[in-house]
Amino acid sequence: MTAKWACPKAFDMGMFLAVRAATPSLGESRTVPENQDRHNHHGQKFVYDFTEGNRDLKDLLGGKGANLAEMTNLGLPVPPGFTITTEACKVYLDSGDEPLALRDEVSGHLEALEQRMGKKLGQAADPLLVSVRSGAKFSMPGMMDTVLNIGLSDESVVGLAQQAGDERFAWDSYRRLIQMFGKTVLGVDGDLFEEALADAKSVKRVVVDTDLDAADLKKLVKQYKKIVKSEAGRDFPQDPREQMDLAVRAVFDSWNGDRARLYRRQERIPNDLGTAVNICSMVFGNLGPDSGTGVAFTRDPASGQQGVYGDYLQNAQGEDVVAGIRNTVPLADLETIDKASYDQLMQIMETLENHYRDLCDIEFTVERGQLWMLQTRVGKRTAGAAFRIATQLVDQGLIDEAEALQRVNGAQLAQLMFPRFDEDTKVELLGRGIAASPGAAVGKAVFDSYTAVKWSRSGERVILIRRETNPDDLDGMIAAEGILTSRGGKTSHAAVVARGMGKTCVCGAEDLEVDTKRRRMTVNGTVIEEGDVVSVDGSTGKVYLGEVPVVPSPVVEYFEGRMHAGADDANELVAAVHRIMAYADRVRRLRVRANADNAEDALRARRFGAQGIGLCRTEHMFLGERREMVERLILADTDDERSTALEQLLPLQKADFIELFEAMDGLPVTVRLLDPPLHEFLPDITELSVRVALAESRKDHNENDLRLLQAVHRLHEQNPMLGLRGVRLGLVIPGLFTMQVRAIAEAVAERRNAKGDPRAEIMIPLVGTVQELEIVRDEAEKVIAEVEAATGIELKLSLGTMIELPRAALTAGQIAEAAEFFSFGTNDLTQTVWGFSRDDVEASFFTAYLEKGIFGVSPFETIDRDGVGALVRSAVEAGRATRPDLKLGVCGEHGGDPESVHFFHEVGLDYVSCSPFRIPVARLEAGRAAAQSKGSDSR
Ligand code: PEP
Ligand code: MG
Repeated sequence: MTAKWACPKAFDMGMFLAVRAATPSLGESRTVPENQDRHNHHGQKFVYDFTEGNRDLKDLLGGKGANLAEMTNLGLPVPPGFTITTEACKVYLDSGDEPLALRDEVSGHLEALEQRMGKKLGQAADPLLVSVRSGAKFSMPGMMDTVLNIGLSDESVVGLAQQAGDERFAWDSYRRLIQMFGKTVLGVDGDLFEEALADAKSVKRVVVDTDLDAADLKKLVKQYKKIVKSEAGRDFPQDPREQMDLAVRAVFDSWNGDRARLYRRQERIPNDLGTAVNICSMVFGNLGPDSGTGVAFTRDPASGQQGVYGDYLQNAQGEDVVAGIRNTVPLADLETIDKASYDQLMQIMETLENHYRDLCDIEFTVERGQLWMLQTRVGKRTAGAAFRIATQLVDQGLIDEAEALQRVNGAQLAQLMFPRFDEDTKVELLGRGIAASPGAAVGKAVFDSYTAVKWSRSGERVILIRRETNPDDLDGMIAAEGILTSRGGKTSHAAVVARGMGKTCVCGAEDLEVDTKRRRMTVNGTVIEEGDVVSVDGSTGKVYLGEVPVVPSPVVEYFEGRMHAGADDANELVAAVHRIMAYADRVRRLRVRANADNAEDALRARRFGAQGIGLCRTEHMFLGERREMVERLILADTDDERSTALEQLLPLQKADFIELFEAMDGLPVTVRLLDPPLHEFLPDITELSVRVALAESRKDHNENDLRLLQAVHRLHEQNPMLGLRGVRLGLVIPGLFTMQVRAIAEAVAERRNAKGDPRAEIMIPLVGTVQELEIVRDEAEKVIAEVEAATGIELKLSLGTMIELPRAALTAGQIAEAAEFFSFGTNDLTQTVWGFSRDDVEASFFTAYLEKGIFGVSPFETIDRDGVGALVRSAVEAGRATRPDLKLGVCGEHGGDPESVHFFHEVGLDYVSCSPFRIPVARLEAGRAAAQSKGSDSR
């Protein structure tokens, strides 16, 4: 039976876990570019010097450019440079060409830069070199292009060698330029350069790049140039300005690269923002042992603890660290390597934290003992760290409680509610790496992204195991349950991207020998083949063989009341969650109720903070043994038969309600009368037809089966979701709804007699017109009056309706005449507004729609503000106009979706109702929404 209400969505953990990572674009409207052409930009400024920008200009300068400007203005040591705006990129993407004014503007800024640096770009004797880096509004790590050392040529490499007094350095920089330029600007296969480099090392019998000397590198440059010529069909450009212009264009183009598009879809970053381009004078970390480059966090992005976190790599240039290719040393070692730079860096980190009032991550370079800041931004962090950092910053007096609420979100809270591995079970530890992104992931080992995607499409859970990942692995990482690498640190590509996605990741597990070609890994003699099951713990860094069972998270234990925030065994995380939830509860206006239809769920919901039940689906009470009674009700030919069936159901229903009212004593419980199509209580039409046909052939007539078959045929609907269900059912099956109302009324009376405080609300489903509601209401009121007369108890039952059809929303003003409350059924409302069959479309074509960008997210998951949302908004207004004290809620799945909760806050609902596991998320988001709107009111 494919009962709509048997759809697991409403109740199961899966849906709760499917809470999407919060979108960086939350609350921001999509900016639609004007139809720009490249000629029409009089007065528009496309280039900003670092001294001209600030951190609020992220839309225009991208995150990197805005923060470089901010640091420049803070007086921190940032190499001078300028930023080409996202507007210039948008013109390029729209028209296929740079805006006409751009070239002159760049020339002006370049000249100013040359004057300041006292060198000219690429000039033979003493060249100014620049880096060209992408930088969009939202960080997209490794997704777009960067080219370093622009300005080097056959001539200027000699000048650079003389100026630096280091020939090796100059040729190493030149070969890096050709390699990066060849790959990203000219589209040459990067492996060709890597192979040539590997060959050069093996010819010389050395292992690391730094053992190649100037002569080796000179040869390599020759070879690289040959590769460029044969692969790109042109020479490597010797003109420095041509290099720069082509690199800028390549950065623009990389906005629409496959990797970048995929990342944006995943992270819900709008496609039309474009990227800025930062042109920055080069500083060199590869000038010898007194130089180096590193990345750092002002706090541990995994735990939130304050301290020295980062990696440093001596004698290396930029990307070497993030790529996780060579082994770095912990940042703390810089203190012994170069104390002066280390001390300065610590000071700068403190300045940045206090200035940004948040965890910052930074990239820096030391050039011959001089520290340079290359980048900073508010750093990504794990969900646990987000909660801890927010409360730490409150304690430090850097932010207030309202701000702390903006530093976390419901998706992070949902992540913290994931189960963990059971440490008490016997496990086979395979190895240990760096705990890069928390969670407990179990799956079959796969060693390449293609297999990860293929297997996960066929329903397998997989763990992607690589030596290290690179941006080409993105789709495999998305498909995998978890990611495991044998190399690279907390800032390697695998770690950064996995954290961003909220995926479990262990990296740098050095005992693992990963052999991608043979699709296996060896760990201390144990061979793990493709398809063997492994378990990866991103919170501890441990990797196990086989499937390790999981246990609930401490945060769930806390919500369950099994752990108290102040208790000795409560960790810092639980204490932080407790505090943030208290802030949220203090400020939120929306109340949060649960969708629950049995005492167990109701009690859990209550522990999780539910303030009532917003939807009790009574159809769940008609399953199991009771199905036969419903069958008898449907088959009844006479009033007597019907009454008998209803009388049998009545006490059972009443008992259900008593239990529920007891569990929710003192809080409102909205009971919805029966909704699904009746035929769903009958046997499957095909099975029954076969049974009857077989019996006929044996001349073995079964009268009951024949009657059943007739009923099944009579009630069969092509489109049951749009057929005889909801209030329609109540109107055509005499006595059904009144039996339910009587059960509710008698249960309330009984709870009152037992000194309880039951607060029942009766809700009529699928109403399209006020007339339907009036008839049911009249009948219900009669029954309630009868029960009140019989018991002598005033029941105080309220009667309301769901608004889940467009017609109901459009005539909400009339419907409110007969309803004391509305609860928006946004599942059915989404189905009927879009004309989507809710049981079919997600499997049949939603993937295609998501891929084509028709929606960023399924409208069944996040409320469609413009369509369904508009109807909700107008129904709220019309309903309240008729009845100012009309109570308003939502009980569709959207009630527990973070982004939708903000919408329901905005339109002024009184409560949201969602499945018990999503209640904490809804409480938190309701608090965030209230704090946000307060903030904007006072601005
Ligand atoms: C709805 O339609 O949103 C709703 C809550 O009812 P159901 O999911 O049971 O149809
Ligand atoms: Mg519905």
